[in-house]
Amino acid sequence: MLLGRHEAFALHDSGRHHPERPGRLAAVAEGVLASGVVEDIVEFRPRRAHLEELTRVHDGDYVSGLEVFCAEGGGMLDADTTVSTGSYEAALRAAGSGPDAIDRLRAGEAEAAFLAVRPPGHHALVGRAMGFCLFNNVAVAAASLAEVGERVLIVDFDAHHGNGTQDIFYERADVCYVSLHQYPFYPGTGSLEEMGVGAGLGATVNVPVPEGTGGDVYRAAFETLIEPVAERFDPTWVLISAGFDGHRDDPLTDLGLSSGDFSDLTRRALRLAPPGRRIAFLEGGYHLEALASSTAACVAALAGEALRPEPLSGAGPSGTHGFEIVRAARRLHLEIV
Ligand SMILES: [Zn+2]
Repeated sequence: MLLGRHEAFALHDSGRHHPERPGRLAAVAEGVLASGVVEDIVEFRPRRAHLEELTRVHDGDYVSGLEVFCAEGGGMLDADTTVSTGSYEAALRAAGSGPDAIDRLRAGEAEAAFLAVRPPGHHALVGRAMGFCLFNNVAVAAASLAEVGERVLIVDFDAHHGNGTQDIFYERADVCYVSLHQYPFYPGTGSLEEMGVGAGLGATVNVPVPEGTGGDVYRAAFETLIEPVAERFDPTWVLISAGFDGHRDDPLTDLGLSSGDFSDLTRRALRLAPPGRRIAFLEGGYHLEALASSTAACVAALAGEALRPEPLSGAGPSGTHGFEIVRAARRLHLEIV
């Protein structure tokens, strides 16, 4: 398994007391060590994204403006997103990690990759930073693959809806975006009815679950909705937006997942595309111990092991509402044609 990490990721200073902090990287490193698969890991230092790769998904003016803004010392980009001088270098390498991993997987270096990047990416829009995110790392990778004719499935199990990723591919038929997220919640998007438009109709699949949702609903979503949708879409690659803020201990969200669930969800997502064509990108996760244990579970799953540091969670306190959402999504995507 490939592990992409770089000291530049710690140079992005998001401001004092910010939950998306450099200390998260140490928790991820601790998780990697605890994964039990260290001997299977080949580490690499991701290169910078090329301008051509960034501008497949972002406005050129946004990219150059961010570079200048950081070089001049940084500051606030939106209510939640602050950057420092080192943020641009961190963001460039976070965005370059996907294309770099793709080249390495194609060369046969491993069967899967975990990219321990920050800043995260899935809220970043075409022309704007948002929600701790500067460049949309997973979208940059998906666009690189789509450019050469691949069919890309993005599975996003971060607790928040990846509005940026959805937006970027909303009209496209060759990138399918599937998100499971707490709803209603930040950033406000990700309702059942958002299904894509034009050629992209049906290639956006939202599973907006209520607070308190546990792993049982996520497993039902995979079995009754995501697996059949993926079978129909027939992806050649799967990219995972692996946010671990759905962990029940996370301070920013209200879901009921365990690190055992992240092992299970990762394994289910990996099965949707062939070996050698599977990449997980770190997104959120703000409780350091939960981030470490969830990373351990995810990394072990990527290496083909079923580490379960804690058992799967069962029913959450949300009752049957989550299952009703899964059934409604199934009706929209699989029964109404
Ligand atoms: Zn999140």
